[in-house]
Formats: sequence, structure tokens, C-alpha cells
Amino acid sequence: MKIHEYQARELFARHGVPVPPGETATEPAQAFELAEKYNCPVMVKSQVLVGGRGKAGGVKYAENAEAAKILATQILGMDIKGEKVNTVLVTPAEDIISESYVGIILDRATKSPVIMVSPAGGVDIEEVAAKTPEKIFKLVVDPVKGLKLFQARNLAYKLYRDINQVRQAANAIMRLYDCFWSVDASLVEINPLITNTDGNVVAIDAKINIDDNALFRHKDIAEMRDVEAEEPGEVRAREGGLSFVKLDGNIGCIVNGAGLAMTTMDLVKRYGGEPANFLDIGGSSNPEKVVTAMDIILSDSNVRAILINIFGGITRCDDVANGIVEAFKRLNPSVPVVVRLTGTNEKEAEKILKSVNLPSADTLDNVVKKAIELSGIE
Ligand code: GDP
Ligand code: MG
Repeated sequence: MKIHEYQARELFARHGVPVPPGETATEPAQAFELAEKYNCPVMVKSQVLVGGRGKAGGVKYAENAEAAKILATQILGMDIKGEKVNTVLVTPAEDIISESYVGIILDRATKSPVIMVSPAGGVDIEEVAAKTPEKIFKLVVDPVKGLKLFQARNLAYKLYRDINQVRQAANAIMRLYDCFWSVDASLVEINPLITNTDGNVVAIDAKINIDDNALFRHKDIAEMRDVEAEEPGEVRAREGGLSFVKLDGNIGCIVNGAGLAMTTMDLVKRYGGEPANFLDIGGSSNPEKVVTAMDIILSDSNVRAILINIFGGITRCDDVANGIVEAFKRLNPSVPVVVRLTGTNEKEAEKILKSVNLPSADTLDNVVKKAIELSGIE
């Protein structure tokens, strides 16, 4: 689950990561009042769940309260990468001397938290990784022992020379690790961690992704979910018990099992297509899930064909087939639907599917090729 910057700042502050004060506004008049209260130049920052707000014009400097009000008027309602801005954060503007990067991710390869720091902060870390990878420093943390101060200090030395700033940065990294661990984050990120004209090290941007599987033990964080800002398909999928991630391609995929879903997407790419989504209907046999899946995928106007790939184990092919027939009745899909059902009760499934007469193919490769061919995309 993604949360907004102002919420991530709150969690940072709880764990002692140095963040400047800040409050949110949903009306320009509120932004005016906050700027007056701080009585100094402020930043007016759009609160959206997508990154790169600065580049998109969603982070602005305001000299005074009047300017803050005008900027809030411009930013509220703005569209940033498809997400509408409903809230801005008003925070005292820092005088920045340097910008660096600190992030912690849960790394699957090492099964451990990995801390990454870079003195080249403020820009896309992916860009730094691609162009100047020597400017990124990594540390794999032993999840049992946790992060030790000397390790945090070694990382901090990669960012600063001044011992006072090294100490502050090491403390910030220790606190950030504590936050990462305590909230069950899959990612925490400070970009940029700055030094200001007073010589202080401060986190002026905050990002946290929480592991959905741990939300049950963080009720207060679960309540931070902003359903309005999330991808509508993903919200519906979650409610319908499906794992769904929207992508930018045009071949909709309905698959059972995460591994098979990944394989299916890989094959779509291999044969020259682009998957429109990742979708795992799970291991249960519930025809209703197929209807929901089809409905979510059809609401994406980029989709040119739907590929249903089911390997029946616990999932019964006849149940899925009933779901497909039901989906055709209710939704009357406007794009070709290609099906491969194999495994438990596949013969029954074949009979059920006769009524909708769908194109199918014998092997996974062939069914993928067929879906791409019928999508009409070159
Ligand atoms: P992002 O674009 O979504 O990552 O938003 P950030 O909060 O990181 O802000 C983008 C950029 O705006 C930063 O890299 C800074 O260069 C600038 N910025 C943000 N806050 C301040 C501030 O308090 N003072 C100054 N001078 N610049 C800021
Ligand atoms: Mg940033």
C-alpha cells in the first residue's frame, strides 16, 4: 500500500527521522493561513501517490502567504500522471546546500533489507543507477542483528565529509531503518535528504510503501489508505479477492497462480505483445471472480484482446468456464477473448464453453500468439 508524503512524514517523525513541520490544506485559503502561521517562505506540495511531482509542476516555492494561496489554487485540482490533486502539504521552505538519497527496500534476492545511499539525490534514483551506478552505495542488513551504528556511519561517510553532518545522517539512517522495520514497509525513501544553511541534515521528501500482508497488525496505518487516489481497477480487484496490477500494454491477462501469471506475461512479451495487467484469480473455484476479472480488464480502454490461461489443479476448469460464460452474458466483451483451460475437469469446461464458441489453442505458446494476432496490434 502506498501512502502520501504527509502521512509518511508523520511515520518518519514518530520514529525520530528529522522532518520539518508541515500541515495539509484542501483549500487555497487554508494554504494562506498555514503560510502565515509559519511566517516564512513555504513549499506548496501536491499530495499524490505517484512520483516525480516536482518535475510535473506539483512542488512550488512560495515567498509569502499570498503566493502560497495562488500556488495552492493552481496545484489543487491539477492532474499529475493521471492522479487528481485533492490535498497540498504546506511546509517551511528549507535553504538547500546539498541533496542526497537514502532508501531501504526489502530485497528478495538476499532476503534482507538493503539500504541504498547516494550523494546524487533529488533526481530519479533509477537515472543515477543507469548513468552513474558508482554513485550508489549499498548495504545488506542482517535482519536478525539489525542495523548497527558503525554501519550507518560508514554509509553516512559516503554522503558527507563534515563530521557533524555524518553524525546527523547516521542517526537519520538508524531512525529510518527503525521506521522501515517497525511499520513493515517494503520500501522507505528519503529523496532528497538535504543539508541546509544551518548545517542540519533534514528529510524534505518522504515515501513509504507498506507490505499489504502486514496491514492487519497496523490498523492506524491501514486507515491511511487513500482509495480515491489508487488505481480504480486495483481497488476493485482487492475487494473481489484478486491480485491485480495495471500495466500499460493491450493484452489483458486472466490467469490462476502468480507464477503462471508471470510466465504468461513473459510469453506475451516474447511474442511481441505488451501485457495490460498482471491478474491472478487465485487458487479457488469461484466463477464470480472470473466475471469481476473480466469486468476490470474491459474497463481499460487500451485492452485489445483478453487471454485467459488456467491450469486447473485446485481450481476447476469447469468453474472457470462457467465464470466465462456468465461474464459473456453480463458484459458482452467488445474485444476477442482467447482461452486455454487445462487440468482438472477440462473436458467439462470444453462442453460449457461451446455455448460461447471462443477461440482456443492447444499449447500455451499458441494461445499467446493467437491472442496477439487477434488483438490486431502490429
Ligand atoms: P518529488 O518531485 O515528488 O520527489 O518531490 P520532492 O519533495 O522531492 O521535491 C522536488 C524538488 O523540489 C526537490 O528535489 C527540491 O529540489 C525542491 N524542494 C522541495 N522542498 C524544498 C524546500 O524546502 N526548499 C527548496 N529550496 N527546494 C525544495
Ligand atoms: Mg522527492
